[in-house]
Amino acid sequence: MIRAAEILEAEKNEFAKVMTTEMGKPLAAAVSEAEKCAWICRYYAEHAERHLADQVVETNARKSYVHFQPLGPVLAVMPWNFPFWQVFRFAAPALMAANVGVLKHASNVPQCALAIGDIFTRAGFPKGAFQILLIGSDAVEGILNDQRVVAATLTGSEPAGRSVAAIAGKQIKTTVLELGGSDPFIVMPSANLKEAVTTAVKARTINNGQSCIAAKRFIVAAEIYQEFEREFVSQMQKLRIGDPMDKATDIGPLATPQIVKDLDEQVKKAVASGARVLTGGKRLDRPGNFFEPTVLVDVDVSAPVSCEEIFGPVAMIFRVNGIDEAIRIANATPFGLGSSAWTNDAAEQAQFIEEIEAGCVFINGMVASDPRLPFGGVKNSGYGRELAEFGIREFVNIKTVWIGESQKSDTE
Ligand code: NAP
Repeated sequence: MIRAAEILEAEKNEFAKVMTTEMGKPLAAAVSEAEKCAWICRYYAEHAERHLADQVVETNARKSYVHFQPLGPVLAVMPWNFPFWQVFRFAAPALMAANVGVLKHASNVPQCALAIGDIFTRAGFPKGAFQILLIGSDAVEGILNDQRVVAATLTGSEPAGRSVAAIAGKQIKTTVLELGGSDPFIVMPSANLKEAVTTAVKARTINNGQSCIAAKRFIVAAEIYQEFEREFVSQMQKLRIGDPMDKATDIGPLATPQIVKDLDEQVKKAVASGARVLTGGKRLDRPGNFFEPTVLVDVDVSAPVSCEEIFGPVAMIFRVNGIDEAIRIANATPFGLGSSAWTNDAAEQAQFIEEIEAGCVFINGMVASDPRLPFGGVKNSGYGRELAEFGIREFVNIKTVWIGESQKSDTE
């Protein structure tokens, strides 16, 4: 696994070009993604032994403990948006727990899939330890029904998650689902507004806006609303859109024409339900899947679009009176992946931590994954956890061992 990290570090620029070519993320972000993959390889290389060490539990036994064993071949169905990171997030812990990984990557990133398979081969993993299947989603059911595959993980959309979980459920195979999100980003009056706005723009537009944990709904206290809105719109207008291979580019093309179409429809639906477009609002009149960075206000909170996942550089801002209304709107979504709340008031921080329905709460910071912290969602964002000790224990048999004293039998 350390050798895999070394290959990622040494060839990060080449891997980045493959990512950017296939799905359009800015090159600098792709380089960072390769570096982050190296980080997770090193993290699990260093920590897997401790995470999976026997845990002694005092009982009436002479000795009792928890022992972790691999499950076997695990199918990973992965998305294109972080075409390296999503895969390594599964592969590093799964392989360190001695499972076999079987990857069905998104159909638009086959070269990324092959490059990742090649990394594990060159790193010296046993033949077949990490296998790449270049197949479409219609072939997933057959693989899940194959008795050799014992578990599955899917990172992707809600419909794909439902389908994989239903098939695996029939086969009584464990699953982890990392699905979509409509993350709230809440700003209260005591926050550092300048920092909050700059982070808000980054949180919405990272990866061209195509991130499950991108902030999608900006919920802002009335006291600071005007200033937030003005500065947010101004910064969204300054983003440089263009060739993702160009270092100066902030926002590249979206991954597929379908995403542009979906985004266009969502913006139109929002406008039809009373929303106003403060900037952007349509696809760019140039070749490629470009969509203007867009800010919507006055979105009707009862309209479905207000809490759907919007997968592109489109932000919605909501004005609220007080923390209770902020939390009510934050939770008014079927999703529960990430959340970010900006406040320097300790009581407000505690209330956000307790009451936001999400897999994580970041106070005065942008939601980001970190190998040392668990990652995952609640509600329709999925179940199970990746990363940290929680991630590596998803695909293991948590075996209870109980050893008693055996008395000599009377007949002896
Ligand atoms: P997607 O359309 O669901 O595709 C994801 C993967 O699932 C692809 O490999 C796809 O294969 C496969 N797939 C699609 N429908 C399937 C089905 N019915 N049965 C089995 N497999 C199926 O999602 P996407 O557009 O690639 O990715 C964007 C979504 O992923 C967003 O909703 C985003 O929020 C979510 N996401 C979540 C996380 C997280 O950690 N929670 C992270 C990143 C992304 P094909 O490509 O062959 O169709």
